[in-house]
Amino acid sequence: MDLKQYIREIPDYPEKGVNFKDITTLLKDGDAFKAVVDQVCSHFEGRGITKVVSLESRGFIVGGALAYHLEAGFVPARKKGKLPAETIEQTYELEYGTDTIEVHLDALCEDDVVLIHDDLLATGGTALAALKLVQKMKVKQVFFSFICDLKFIENGNKALLDEYETHSVVT
Ligand code: IMP
Repeated sequence: MDLKQYIREIPDYPEKGVNFKDITTLLKDGDAFKAVVDQVCSHFEGRGITKVVSLESRGFIVGGALAYHLEAGFVPARKKGKLPAETIEQTYELEYGTDTIEVHLDALCEDDVVLIHDDLLATGGTALAALKLVQKMKVKQVFFSFICDLKFIENGNKALLDEYETHSVVT
């Protein structure tokens, strides 16, 4: 199944010059959605993953299914101010300004083997922030999963992610 063909490209969204990869066309197809979840789970099965950490908000969709099939817990990494209990945060650079993600302070512990999942890897800024966040909780091991990796974007963020095992369904 060629899953790449299920991802729609929207020119000039959200701003001129950006060619946005729209995964909703993949998600709405039952066979394609199942193929994504099956592929990621068969890659990471047996690795002892205890928590799937997913990024708000598109990461939650497949992240929840991965957690269920890997029999792991699900931890939402949310934008600042959305989580109700005590949090730990990580700020990262955007093209213009900064953004901050948070997880609950009691969401992860030193025994956790974490799969960080997001829908798409572009500059790697979001993924690197998620990595720094889970490292603050001194987890045992970290893996990465993306539906789509924009491989043509190469930079220092992505180089820092290189040492972590990463699975991308579509590149
Ligand atoms: P990065 O931090 O530059 O790697 O961007 C990745 C984050 O931005 C992810 O959380 C994505 O959801 C979002 N993102 C960036 N570009 C796209 C796109 O073309 N399609 C869908 N999401 C995108």
